[in-house]
Amino acid sequence: MATRRISVPETAVTRMKVAKISKPGAGFEIVEREIPEPGAGHVRIKVQACGICHSDVLTVEGAWPGIQYPRVPGHEVAGIIDEVGDGVSAWKKGQRAGVGWHGGHDNTCRECRRGDFRNCRNQKIAGISYDGGYQQYMVAPVEALVAIPESLSDVDAGPLLCAGITTYNALRHSGALPGDVVAVQGIGGLGHLGIQFANKFGYTVAAIGRGPENATLAKKLGATVYIDSQSENAADALQKLGGAKVILATAPNSKAMSQLIDGLGPNGKLMVIGATFDPIEVTPFQLISGSRTIQGWAAGTPADSEDTLRFAELSGVRPMVETYPLEKAAEAYARMMSGNAQFRVVLTM
Ligand SMILES: [Zn+2]
Ligand SMILES: [Zn+2]
Repeated sequence: MATRRISVPETAVTRMKVAKISKPGAGFEIVEREIPEPGAGHVRIKVQACGICHSDVLTVEGAWPGIQYPRVPGHEVAGIIDEVGDGVSAWKKGQRAGVGWHGGHDNTCRECRRGDFRNCRNQKIAGISYDGGYQQYMVAPVEALVAIPESLSDVDAGPLLCAGITTYNALRHSGALPGDVVAVQGIGGLGHLGIQFANKFGYTVAAIGRGPENATLAKKLGATVYIDSQSENAADALQKLGGAKVILATAPNSKAMSQLIDGLGPNGKLMVIGATFDPIEVTPFQLISGSRTIQGWAAGTPADSEDTLRFAELSGVRPMVETYPLEKAAEAYARMMSGNAQFRVVLTM
């Protein structure tokens, strides 16, 4: 008897898992949603990995003005484009792409017209302005997309799109030259990448941590010197090295940052990337003597992210990660908040 081949209609996957915050402070909820369609100028990314950043607290606790709920956090996204909207020509289905902190710009404000997209007045942020990467599929505007080089894994690429670009871009714009003393305050999610980049940039790297336990790791990551700020005055220790040209302040601890200002050498700069709402304390005299400066730095554009990924690919800089499945988003987020993660927590889908 002849068997007839029955054609089974392809059952398209139409639902996806999402870790959402329904209101500030409510914590994570794992829910199912329809997979969204990308509109004009947008693509849909099948998310493979999404890093958890301390700034996700802005979404979880509602600290960003005007944020709308429910909201899905996540701005360290790595995945594959699986659908493109109308008018998208530069990105193709099947291409690897990511989204970092810079979630889009308007191309019309004064800063954009001058090419300063990083400071767009209407900048969008993934996971704050629209749903981010704590989900299986996300929709993103083309202005936010970052091409991911073949040799970088998704779990490595994700954290490089916020923690990585922030340290890389802040350092390369800091004015420090090869051989200069550059201090990296804090050995955590940002700091462990900052030490690696600073080493590859050819600086004399002073890593500053609290307690002796990170000394070996800091040296392994490329620090020339390790300063334990609990057992010695870190500013004095930096002055013994001639004073820092740049201190990259990564730990969100304003008091610790304030205590380091006297460790800056002439024309030294405190480069602030550890985000907190507490004030840094400094006297005018501290700034005037030696013409010191304090500057803040926020991530960068997708083009800067691509520079970061290519530099990481060339130099071997990689994040150290702990991975959790999306379903354990709450546990993973708590792990990040504990400060004990080694060093970046990444969700996998
Ligand atoms: Zn971030
Ligand atoms: Zn703009």
